[in-house]
Amino acid sequence: MKSRYFLLFPILCCFVPGFGQNYRPSPVKAYLSLTGEVNLLTFFINTAYDYWDEEEVDFYYEELLESQKWLEWQADIWGQELEFNNDAFLGDNKSTVYLEKVLRGSNPESTIGKIMKEIGFKGLDDFLEYYQFDLDTRKLKIVLFVKSNNRSHAYNRWSVKEMDLAVIYCRNTIGMITGSTVIAHEILHQFGAWDLYYELGRSQTRETSDIIREKYPNSIMRRTSGNENTLEVDEVTAWRIGWGAFQKEFRRYDPVVNSKERVKEYQDYQWARRKSLIHFNLKKEKKGQKN
Ligand SMILES: [Zn+2]
Repeated sequence: MKSRYFLLFPILCCFVPGFGQNYRPSPVKAYLSLTGEVNLLTFFINTAYDYWDEEEVDFYYEELLESQKWLEWQADIWGQELEFNNDAFLGDNKSTVYLEKVLRGSNPESTIGKIMKEIGFKGLDDFLEYYQFDLDTRKLKIVLFVKSNNRSHAYNRWSVKEMDLAVIYCRNTIGMITGSTVIAHEILHQFGAWDLYYELGRSQTRETSDIIREKYPNSIMRRTSGNENTLEVDEVTAWRIGWGAFQKEFRRYDPVVNSKERVKEYQDYQWARRKSLIHFNLKKEKKGQKN
């Protein structure tokens, strides 16, 4: 039943016009929205790079609870009911598990499979059955805190559009602590939120990111730095996660829609870089001739 459901989802996306684009509450959309009861399962992953100690686990777990409080507060502002439940898998939501490495972009399904084997289950289905957790009627998101030196990100397990496994690396590339705002950002991704910040070649173009900076300067999908009380769930994200209505202009922020422009920006950048490198080498050669 479960696997059939998740097979059905991409088919629905293909054949129902505008599905996933317009805010039309349907049983599927209601299931995917960041509303009602959301069950969270968390694991702390030790890697060859580093190990968790108890104090650190407690620290990040507190940050996770803080991020949930923030999201519940934002839901309230948007007139939505939201409640996180961390107790659906009592005893297992703070487990530390060793996986040699969890690379950015590694297969989420096999990652979950490996974790389940480490904690003594045959797989995720076996685990869910043990806890009598029915995926057809209850929402489940899995968050991994990985001890590694990498950037945090979320990715999907079951479908292209909605992300069910978030991987949060607990020391990012510049060595900063990953706090509650980053965790909230990643949880929002799990419910379909788009990145709204500018980074060459990713998610937004220069033009769309300029508009976003003007319109939604405090969006948590644009920045995670600063005081959490100054951040918010913007209109675009609210639509993505099922809190707000669709507006036509939101389409331009769709990373799929603006991908052509993003690729062009990236190619222009590379071309400019190559040109300056050629110029630099020529100058060096000339200088060498003079000497
Ligand atoms: Zn992001």
